This record gives sequence, C-alpha cells and structure tokens, in this order.
Amino acid sequence: MDQIIQEEKEHLIGFFKRFPIAFTRAEGHTLTDINGKTYTDFTAGISVCSLGHANRRVNDAIKDQLDKITHMTNIFYVPGQIELSRKISAKSFNGKSFFCNSGAEANDAAIKISRFLGNKISPKKNKILSMESSFHGRTIATISITGQPKYRQGFEPILPHVDYVKINDMSSLEEKMDENVCAIFLEPVMGEGGIFPLSRSFVAKARMLAQKHQALLVFDEIQAGIARTGKYFGYQWYDVEPDIITLAKALGNGFPIGAVHMKSALADQLTPGLHGTTFGGNFLAIAAANAVMDQLDDTLLTKINELSAYFLERLNALRKDKHTVIGDIRVKGLMIGIDLIGIDVASVIQDLLDRGFVTLRAGDNTLRLLPPFTITKKEIDALLEQLMEIL
Ligand SMILES: *Cc1c(COP(=O)(O)O)cnc(C)c1O
Repeated sequence: MDQIIQEEKEHLIGFFKRFPIAFTRAEGHTLTDINGKTYTDFTAGISVCSLGHANRRVNDAIKDQLDKITHMTNIFYVPGQIELSRKISAKSFNGKSFFCNSGAEANDAAIKISRFLGNKISPKKNKILSMESSFHGRTIATISITGQPKYRQGFEPILPHVDYVKINDMSSLEEKMDENVCAIFLEPVMGEGGIFPLSRSFVAKARMLAQKHQALLVFDEIQAGIARTGKYFGYQWYDVEPDIITLAKALGNGFPIGAVHMKSALADQLTPGLHGTTFGGNFLAIAAANAVMDQLDDTLLTKINELSAYFLERLNALRKDKHTVIGDIRVKGLMIGIDLIGIDVASVIQDLLDRGFVTLRAGDNTLRLLPPFTITKKEIDALLEQLMEIL
C-alpha cells in the first residue's frame, strides 16, 4: 500500500483525500482489498452500486452488448435510449429524456434548458434558485448552483444570477422568488449537505410559486433517485409533479450515465443543436441502465422500506443509550444520516473502517449510510454493534 500511495503522489493530481485502502473485488455489499481483507459496504460507492456490486443482470447486459457495438456518434439512432426513456417515464412521469455521462453533466444540461426556456419568455428570466447546503456537481455551472461556499471558493467568477434559499423555509423562498426566476433546483433529500428531507409544505410552496412565475421545478434525483429513498424517485414522497428530474449515480449501477428527463411539452420547445454529447447514451451505458430499470419494482421498494424501518427502530434504540453523542437521526429509505455530538465523525468512520465497515460523512458532522439494497438485517446489526462500541 505504501508504494501505491507514493506513486500516486508522483502521477495523479491530488484532488482526492483517500483512505489508505485499495479495493480489488466487490460483490453485493462485500468489498475485498489488495491485502485480502473484506469489508461490508454501507456506501454503495455514494449511492451508485445500489443494486449491489457486480449485479448479475447489469453485468450480463454489459457483457452481451460489449461484443455487438459499444459506441457510435449520436448523429445516428440508438434504440436503447428510447427503451430507457420509456422505462423512466413509466416509473416517474410521461416525459422525454437526454442521456449524458454524469450527474454534473445532467444538471449542467438542466441549467442550460432552464436558461433557454426562461430566455424565450423574457431576456431577464435567467435567475436560478437553489438551496443553501445543496450539492449539484463540480463543473463551473453546477458549483454555481451548489449552496456550499467551499465548493465555489477560488473559482470565481461563477455563474451570475443564482440565489440560495434556506431549505424548508417558506418565507426565504417567497422572498427570493420573482418573475426573473427560470428554475428552482431541489434535492428531494439533501445528500452531501447532511441527509435532510424536504418538508411537504415547502415542496408544495415551491411547486405553486414555480407555476405562478413560469419557472421550472427541477428535482436533482442524482443521489435520492432510483429507489434509494424507498420510492422510485425522491420527489414522489411529496405528491408533486416536477418539470425536470436529473439522474446519474445509481442509474448505471456503476457504469457512468446521467439523464435529464423532462415534461414532453417543455422538451418540444428544444431543437437539434442546442445541446449535445459524444459519449452520452452510448450502447454500453444504455445497456447497463436498462438492466437497472428492469430491476426496479414494488417488491424492491417494499424491501427497502422494511430495511429502512428496521434501521430507524434500531437507531432510535441506540440513541436512548447514547443520547449524549447521538443527535438527530434522519432516515428516508436507505438514505441515513446520524448527527454526532462532541465526537468527530472522521474518527468514527476510521474506527468503523478498521472494523471492516465502510461508511461516509455528510454535512457538518453527520455519519451517512447509503448501503446497497442487498444489505440484510444481519449486517445492519453488525454495523450498529460496532458503532455502539465505538461511541
Ligand atoms: C453526486 C451528485 C451530483 C454530481 O454527480 P457527478 O456524477 O459526481 O457529477 C449532483 N447532485 C447530487 C445530488 C449528487 O449527489
């Protein structure tokens, strides 16, 4: 491991602060590192390998596609894209899709679409509202709508005409909303920001205000979508219709793919040449994503919601004993945030890693769990037993 760490310093741009571990194999929720040590994965690679690592149907679909055709330019038809859009519509709303390669790219496209449609109404209609503490990606446009200054610092000037609203604060939203807003971007459950679900009344207000001012309501479903919260898409907890949803992460279960899915009537105002991509929607990515969508069904949702209820019950019991160190607990499906008090989440994550459990952080001092859906009560018990000891 020491040699890898040394050589990486020589060859790779040091953008990542890494744990001194390199994984070589993964199956379901089990990871194996170069020394043969195994770990239970409570991250799914940040909500990516949600169906479990090395998912059989996804792997078979990629292998099958690999020897047929992997890439041609988007100036030719790719029928799998149509099939995939149909499957996304069936689980969300009737709409039209564009496929790209990542979450940031999907949000970037959604920003361009929002600006374009806004400009058609009025040249002043280009303001975007997003949430304080939100995360929407790392490109210049997406850091601009990301409500965390640390991601923007040093990269100024960022995109102008963006304002940030306190989540679930109706008056903050009302105050910042006006006729120049072209879109409101929401994460249905804030992920990087610390696992914060939106309130129903806040989402209803956002929907109403967007309608009133001819702005688009965009749900960034990149972390919360694809069954992660116990619904197919996070917005479905709120009984509202989005104008646009953006997808990535779990859509390919590890194969890179992003998507913008939008209301057909809005999509019909967009014309060839406005946007594009070389790799987006290539045959391999589409094969992977079609195999993912084929595995999303009500049985899976029921399982996720059962595991979620079990997690919440066990966490609440744990907090009874450890109320001095465990603060708020937020659980939406298998998107779990545990606030720690007076104990650094980084040290807890390190201790869990030493004991063979991979977890994440979020927000200020929140332990974030996003396990693959293959996880069982047995592994949940094992994790919580270790967490209890560490705390
Ligand atoms: C991860 C994430 C993104 C960015 O996706 P990338 O594929 O890393 O570009 C955007 N929005 C949310 C909510 C995310 O969790």
